[in-house]
Amino acid sequence: MSLTALNKKALLEQEAHRLYGLLGSVSRSKGVKWSYADCLQAAPYTLAINQIKKEKNAVILAHSYTVPELVLGVADFSGDSYALSRKACEVSADTIVFAGVWFMAETAKILNPSKRVLIPAGKAGCTLADAITEEEVRALKAAHPGAPVLCYVNSTAGVKAESDVCVTSGNVFDIAAKLPQKELIFVPDLLMAQNIEAELKRRGVSKKIIASGGSCCVHDKYTPADVQALRRDYPGIKVLCHPESRPDVCAQADFVGSTKGMQDYVAASSDKLFGLLTEVGLVNRLEAAYPDRKFIWPFGTCAYMKKNTLANTFQALLEPRADQTVELPPDVIARAKKSLENMFEMSK
Ligand code: SF4
Repeated sequence: MSLTALNKKALLEQEAHRLYGLLGSVSRSKGVKWSYADCLQAAPYTLAINQIKKEKNAVILAHSYTVPELVLGVADFSGDSYALSRKACEVSADTIVFAGVWFMAETAKILNPSKRVLIPAGKAGCTLADAITEEEVRALKAAHPGAPVLCYVNSTAGVKAESDVCVTSGNVFDIAAKLPQKELIFVPDLLMAQNIEAELKRRGVSKKIIASGGSCCVHDKYTPADVQALRRDYPGIKVLCHPESRPDVCAQADFVGSTKGMQDYVAASSDKLFGLLTEVGLVNRLEAAYPDRKFIWPFGTCAYMKKNTLANTFQALLEPRADQTVELPPDVIARAKKSLENMFEMSK
């Protein structure tokens, strides 16, 4: 073996050890953790991505639901939609690589119109964002004049541009309660709309929610039977769910909140056993952060988020395709930005 080959081997082994330190407690598939051999396979990509990122003055923002080798191996920042949209406002790099789905990369572009925004997965969809068009929002506004439009952040740039204020799963209840109007239009999550009504009722606030759209194909699958099975099989377990889930699931959970809310709940808890009715990416992040705790995840994977890989992240940094580059009309950017700024203002 030549000296160069030896050096390369040593470098790869060093990188594999770094990755194993980050990923060793994370599940690769159900019941199987990342091994050193898995990390050795990922090492050439993470080394190359971290190098090219510097050369291109790029920053990688990764949603928590993307694969753990991206989140832990190469991302400069990871989090949920709200945290990433806040982070996108602060970025000074020339290029933002957004590992997530298309509407999220659009949000990064809306907040940073002068920067190049790339998404490794290309036009990765979302069953929520794709559930309503801007034309349908305009029709709702015409049918309910005076009712402000709240759009969940999981919506297209065109829908955000038609909305008065954007919301996330972390601030939706507070913003809906703060608005003075008695009638609100909420898109595009029908289950979250039901949860808003239930939460406002619990707070003694009376409002009519006019909802349209669809549901998240991950969180809408959970049923009360899943909560009951977790409680039966794991006595003492704390069950966490997302407000994109059915109201009868939320009603039985110990905690209902955003991805960040669930992370904060676990951080503040002295419990050791948690049932997570959410996407596996969050389970992986918690496994990495708390190797001494047990996280039970019955099922739930977002195929759209998993379209982001180390291989296409490297390729997008090196030579992005047109479908990996986010471009938006300036007037859409300006109007959509207003709905995001209104959210930042109302979340203070
Ligand atoms: S997890 Fe649900 S809401 Fe999130 S991107 Fe996937 S389909 Fe959309």
